[in-house]
Amino acid sequence: MAKPTVAIVGRPNVGKSTIFNRIIGDRVAIVEDIPGVTRDRIYGSGEWLNHYFNIIDTGGIEIGDEPLLIQMRAQANVAVDEADVILFIVDGRDGLTGADQEVAEMLYRSKKPVVLGVNKIDNVKQELNLYEFYSLGVGEPFAISGSHGLGLGDLLDAVIAHFPAEEDDDYDESTIKFSIIGRPNVGKSSLVNAILGKKRVIVSDIAGTTRDAVDTPFTKDGQDYVIIDTAGIRKRGKVYEKTEKYSVLRAQKAIEGSDVVLVVINGEEGIIEQDKKIAGYAHQAGRAIVIVVNKWDAVEKDDKTMESFKRKIRDHFQFLSYAPIVFLSAQTKQRLTSLLPMIQTVAENHSMRVQTSLLNDVIMDATAMTPPPSDKGRRLKIYYATQVSVKPPTFVLFVNDPELLHFSYERYLENKIRDTFGFIGTPIRIFSRRKH
Ligand code: GDP
Ligand code: GDP
Repeated sequence: MAKPTVAIVGRPNVGKSTIFNRIIGDRVAIVEDIPGVTRDRIYGSGEWLNHYFNIIDTGGIEIGDEPLLIQMRAQANVAVDEADVILFIVDGRDGLTGADQEVAEMLYRSKKPVVLGVNKIDNVKQELNLYEFYSLGVGEPFAISGSHGLGLGDLLDAVIAHFPAEEDDDYDESTIKFSIIGRPNVGKSSLVNAILGKKRVIVSDIAGTTRDAVDTPFTKDGQDYVIIDTAGIRKRGKVYEKTEKYSVLRAQKAIEGSDVVLVVINGEEGIIEQDKKIAGYAHQAGRAIVIVVNKWDAVEKDDKTMESFKRKIRDHFQFLSYAPIVFLSAQTKQRLTSLLPMIQTVAENHSMRVQTSLLNDVIMDATAMTPPPSDKGRRLKIYYATQVSVKPPTFVLFVNDPELLHFSYERYLENKIRDTFGFIGTPIRIFSRRKH
């Protein structure tokens, strides 16, 4: 079941990002140590009374140096396009402004549920400022203080009350859900068309849902697949769709619903920072990954071109050393046939369970060959290892002291595990627990 999405809108300085940060709370503290993954995120996850949702701070989407009104329009449109519920924030100290009315009108036309938060009501006296906001015509205003964390509970009660009823849109366990991500113009849309090409696959009809995130199921060689967020990939023409923040946001949404993520790179242009950022999110989310180098038809090649391109990718995406690389052309369909089998392979590895006894043999051999380095006279002891989950494969090591498991040794163990079991295309996670 896909999580509902809440988008925060409102003119600048009303407190959107303050409220966004309040709502995502601790979740922002995930250490992002992958190069290119910045901290100024506009997309996060929240939870209220056991309802889990995604939240977007549309204030973070800026389009060049367009005038304020255009920026606000674009931000409101992102909210309308992406959200199940819109959280409209105004400033209770400034009072009602013309810009608030502009935003209200755009939201009103969209017919999406809107919850109105009147921010900067830091004490009871200021609650008098609330009433004029009824005239925005978007319902009851809620008094909140983002910086003091007041009133957010009632506000979120109202937000979750608008969440769509749980739909049973879960696919069969054996269905491989994948998404195609990459910056604009790398050929995502062309790749969808190439994959779905009439003769190759049976495209099933998509049942109309109340949500606009449309996935495309198909079957090929007896395997069921779903392309996640096909609608998003094919969307075209709005100003904000070319902005970097927006393409990252779309990518994050798609990644969330996927088992496998195709990170598409433009073979003609090579790798840029934005590619890394997008790939970084897929890695962090623990999805299986295939790197697709598209437009390979347009590249002038000799017998060394592919190898040197591969080396460049490995250099730029060091954190994706496990991801296979497929060179293809969505346009000429050259090498396209290798793609679905590769998706199948990484999906299998992503959900692979290994035998505990074999795993422990590997760990014991590894520690015998290269013992853990000692730290201030103390040495890590690994007593036992077990795989606790899949998607991605996750291992727990029971040790004398988890502090002694350093990153480089963990890397070494990861490599040993991969040498034996493969785990091609999937990140693996290793945790350590103190054995009592
Ligand atoms: P955004 O542009 O809508 O994202 O607004 P920000 O979150 O950046 O906040 C704009 C300014 O308002 C900052 O200086 C915040 O510290 C301040 N602010 C945010 N929430 C509150 C609040 O509840 N009370 C008061 N007094 N100031 C606030
Ligand atoms: P998206 O923005 O990532 O969805 O990219 P599109 O699928 O819209 O493709 C962007 C442009 O690249 C279009 O003009 C395509 O015709 C072109 N294109 C896509 N795939 C290929 C390819 O494999 N080879 C070549 N030469 N051009 C391609």
